[in-house]
Amino acid sequence: MSVAADLKKIKANIPREIKLVAVSKTKSCDTIMEAYHAGHRIFGENKVQELQDKHGELPKDIEWHFIGHLQTNKVKYIAGFVHLVHSVDSIKLLSVLNKEAIKADRIISCLLQIKIAREDTKYGLSEEGAEELIRASVTDQMKNIRFAGVMGMATYTSDLDQVRQEFQNLSAIFKRLKEKYFSADDQFKEISMGMSHDYPVAIEEGATLIRIGSLIFGERTYNKLN
Ligand SMILES: *Cc1c(COP(=O)(O)O)cnc(C)c1O
Repeated sequence: MSVAADLKKIKANIPREIKLVAVSKTKSCDTIMEAYHAGHRIFGENKVQELQDKHGELPKDIEWHFIGHLQTNKVKYIAGFVHLVHSVDSIKLLSVLNKEAIKADRIISCLLQIKIAREDTKYGLSEEGAEELIRASVTDQMKNIRFAGVMGMATYTSDLDQVRQEFQNLSAIFKRLKEKYFSADDQFKEISMGMSHDYPVAIEEGATLIRIGSLIFGERTYNKLN
């Protein structure tokens, strides 16, 4: 099927208020433009260089989301245009995002990446770690970053019961953080969870943003660099 047809099919399956991030990593600008011409405007990338190149080449009304591990020394390349960083997992990164946002005269919206998978993954905060980070942003008066919610990746497994438990955990963490720190802040509202193989479960468990790549663009051909 075509990119446009696949997009249409997925959009028909998700409630209107849920935002779909089309994960275009490793895909060409021509392929992205197929989705663009079908009316899609929200795309996700996980490599700074690739995102920078695509941002330079593609229409300026695209909303670019950064979904991968972000190295602090590379923040400056995307700070001027990135719409949402899904992967904030350290105080250092948050602080650099704030500094680069000030330089770019912008407010950068961020999600706290929480480690919910049972499998050993390198990135993501514990709930306590997320709280420390929120408190640090207040203490250090990081005025140019805005917390928009949380993000998580479930264990890569076909056991959807386990995936559901992990998504439930993320939803519960979101609710607690919301109550404790953002009860008067209507910007803290996003739960980014769900990928091609598990997004229906994510939606049932409260996702507001889902990140889908291969279901829209086909399987990616990976090399070691990806
Ligand atoms: C690649 C990626 C996705 C999309 O994965 P698919 O299985 O192709 O839908 C979603 N989120 C993150 C963080 C990713 O790196």
